[in-house]
Amino acid sequence: MLYRSLAPALFLFGALGACTTTQTQRPAPSAQAEQRAPVTILVSIDGFRADYLKRGVTPNLAALASSGIEAPMRPSFPTKTFPNHWAIVTGDRPDRNGIVANNMEDDSRPDEKFTMASDDPFWWNDAEPIWVTAEKAAVRTATMFWPGSNVPWGGTQDKEWPHDIHGGTRPSDWAQFNQQIGGTQRVNMVLDVLRRPAAIRPVFVTLYFDTVDTAGHIHGPDAAETTAALTEVDTHIGELVAGLKAMGQTANIVVVADHGMAARSADRVVALDKVANPADYRIVESGPYASIAAVPGHEKALEAALFKATPHMQCWRKSEIPARFHYGTHRRIPPYFCLGETGWEIQPTTPKGKISGGNHGWDDRAPEMQALFIANGPAFTTGVAAPSDFANVDIYPLIARLIGVTPRPSDGDPAALSRLIRP
Ligand code: AMP
Ligand code: ZN
Ligand code: ZN
Repeated sequence: MLYRSLAPALFLFGALGACTTTQTQRPAPSAQAEQRAPVTILVSIDGFRADYLKRGVTPNLAALASSGIEAPMRPSFPTKTFPNHWAIVTGDRPDRNGIVANNMEDDSRPDEKFTMASDDPFWWNDAEPIWVTAEKAAVRTATMFWPGSNVPWGGTQDKEWPHDIHGGTRPSDWAQFNQQIGGTQRVNMVLDVLRRPAAIRPVFVTLYFDTVDTAGHIHGPDAAETTAALTEVDTHIGELVAGLKAMGQTANIVVVADHGMAARSADRVVALDKVANPADYRIVESGPYASIAAVPGHEKALEAALFKATPHMQCWRKSEIPARFHYGTHRRIPPYFCLGETGWEIQPTTPKGKISGGNHGWDDRAPEMQALFIANGPAFTTGVAAPSDFANVDIYPLIARLIGVTPRPSDGDPAALSRLIRP
């Protein structure tokens, strides 16, 4: 009642004040508005190849780049979605972070397969994501999608009731991945959590967009539809920046991609059944690379076939994958691994129909696989030379520093991007 009767009076006071006081007598805007600490927002645009930025169709990203820092970022191998999103938020490459592929098997769970919908912490527990590092340090986090962010990290599955997970840590606010939730809605959900009172407002937020990757797969990296998807996601970046500005919320925004995209074609296929005898092997994954297990007792025959020179493809025992890939020690990696030359796919058989569109998963140093990186905000220095040849695992220590938590030791180099941050 008291509030009701006072409200019009306060409004009137404000209105009269505006008419009658001089500018110097008005309270300074900073005294009226709450002083908000900068928030750190990690945005992933799935499949945003580093050079897409040069197409001139993403003005909001270009503005963040020109008033911040922009450089191509090297993904981790294999250049797939789940291994790389987990590498970015854990600082560990797939060989150590446990998400070695989008589809996995594990001898300790012979009846199960990991797919992109698997949220049993068993698959994820090898490496701690930044939101868990933060939550443990009482730094509040929120995720508007990110692979693994729906997992009760560190939890264990009930032996009798596999759907029950005991323990584990999630971001304070998280959402189950759903492609039906559009870009504007995702941005609004981020803005909404930032409108909360300081006590329940996150310090670190993730935001994820998938439409550029989807368009790149269906239409290919050079298609008009993919260019249109760049513009569409860029408008959501614009909505985010405008929304933050409207609420007076400063932000350190780090925009990344998980990998790039290369065109595929029926003219660039290695059919595995023409290289080796299908009676000797079982394919776990195929595409830009193939991961393969031998039929027990057929190892010698399979090795003889895989290790002879085959154009556009190279195969190794997992223990002999060249060191620069940092890949081959994890138990979830199948015993044999073949990598296609960039743009060449390894398929079980010769494809019957047309193959078009794009894919990723190739060599992490291929120009087509390089990923977007933009950093913008009050914590970043401007006018420094762009970082060169840095890996996506270096993002984890960067984010940890931005949000004031101590990073776990990881594959990420805390020095790699430290000069981007104001002393
Ligand atoms: P890919 O291109 O096969 O490496 O995977 C990209 C796809 O992963 C995207 O198009 C999304 O549909 C899907 N995806 C992204 N995040 C999630 C998630 N958290 N859970 C399930 N699927 C996801
Ligand atoms: Zn991806
Ligand atoms: Zn993809």
